[in-house]
Amino acid sequence: MSSMTSTVDIQQAVTTDAFDLGPARALSCRECGHRIPLAAEFACAECFGPLEVSYDFGDITRESIEAGPRSIWRYRGLLPVPSNVREHPNTEPGMTRLVKADRLAAALGLKSLWVKDDTGNPTHSFKDRVVAVALAAARELGFRVLACPSTGNLANAVAAAAARAGWESVVLIPSNLERAKILTTAVYDGALIAVDGNYDDVNRLATELAAEHEDWAFVNVNVRPYYAEGSKTLGYEVAEQLGWRLPEQIVIPVASGSQLTKVDKAFREFGELGLVEATPYKVFGAQATGCSPVSTAFKGGHDVVRPVKPDTIARSLAIGAPADGPYVLDAVRRTGGAVEDVTDAEVVEGIRLLARTEGIFAETAGGVTVATARKLIAAGKIDPDAETVLLITGDGLKTLDAVQDQIGPKATIPPSAAAVREVLGH
Ligand SMILES: *Cc1c(COP(=O)(O)O)cnc(C)c1O
Ligand SMILES: [Zn+2]
Repeated sequence: MSSMTSTVDIQQAVTTDAFDLGPARALSCRECGHRIPLAAEFACAECFGPLEVSYDFGDITRESIEAGPRSIWRYRGLLPVPSNVREHPNTEPGMTRLVKADRLAAALGLKSLWVKDDTGNPTHSFKDRVVAVALAAARELGFRVLACPSTGNLANAVAAAAARAGWESVVLIPSNLERAKILTTAVYDGALIAVDGNYDDVNRLATELAAEHEDWAFVNVNVRPYYAEGSKTLGYEVAEQLGWRLPEQIVIPVASGSQLTKVDKAFREFGELGLVEATPYKVFGAQATGCSPVSTAFKGGHDVVRPVKPDTIARSLAIGAPADGPYVLDAVRRTGGAVEDVTDAEVVEGIRLLARTEGIFAETAGGVTVATARKLIAAGKIDPDAETVLLITGDGLKTLDAVQDQIGPKATIPPSAAAVREVLGH
């Protein structure tokens, strides 16, 4: 064997067998298709396009999934994580409830409505899903520090997951974040750093730091291709919980747009693998008007998403330059959906409507989803007779400041039955 050949052999061994990331086989560019071996890379060396995980799925059946744990790890055969991914029973995200929302359906004039309530995750938002997958991949890729720039929920999820894994964490947030999201991150005692600037400034800083610190896994920067795949579990769960079928319409909040594109990917994968019948579905995107670059591009008929400076109470969605914006437009247009945006006042109405009808207290992102659904129904874009799912991605306890001026006790009274009767008008 010539030395040339053996170099190639070693290279191959390093690049294809070095990591066990389950069914993941390579990273491929979403723009030009260029493929590279699995690694902590996120941008294509040929065209700077975003990299995405490519798979070679094994034999996956409904039964094999149903036999798995009641967490996102039941879908491990569809995720870029080691086959023996470490589980922490009772603290893993996923298998949150899918609620038949008849009272909200009646209020919205819909025939059949479900709410996917992702407030039930360990740190009360869907971000626990993406972080769990990022951590599992990062561990296999050799990292020992978990980091992120965050609009709040990701900060919670990274700090908590790192604490549970015994890793150090470095979390960067805009300094004007909701107090509750700061405290519920700080309590895990990682390195939480508040930055004077908006999320897009913080994200730029993180990209710079990721280049400097090769042992830091910035979940949504240098290990973003793996992280992003975690959002597929939302789509898988909705389909499984509906009894192994796809909904006809789904409304998804959009920040970077990653979640929306991955739920769409999950539905397509389930169809291609024969786990569900590949019935048509429409994907709808929801934004706050104060940060609506994707909605603006959709309504203007553009392919390019022009960055904006965010100004909205929906801070978890306040990404002015959404990385996956163009792919959101693709998914929405391909499926016949739409993207719409709602004002901050409508967001608060959405939060209150969901709470009043279903007993679910969502954060501002949930208010965006509910209010956008209402607007799309009124505009005739959401079909009231087609089965609809709303993704409620975060918990209202973290964004109390959004509602505190509008809600409170009906009255403050002395401890007497007469005073209660008077308040209730009996
Ligand atoms: C991050 C976030 C989203 C949106 O996620 P993207 O994948 O960036 O679009 C939605 N809802 C909540 C509560 C979030 O924290
Ligand atoms: Zn490329």
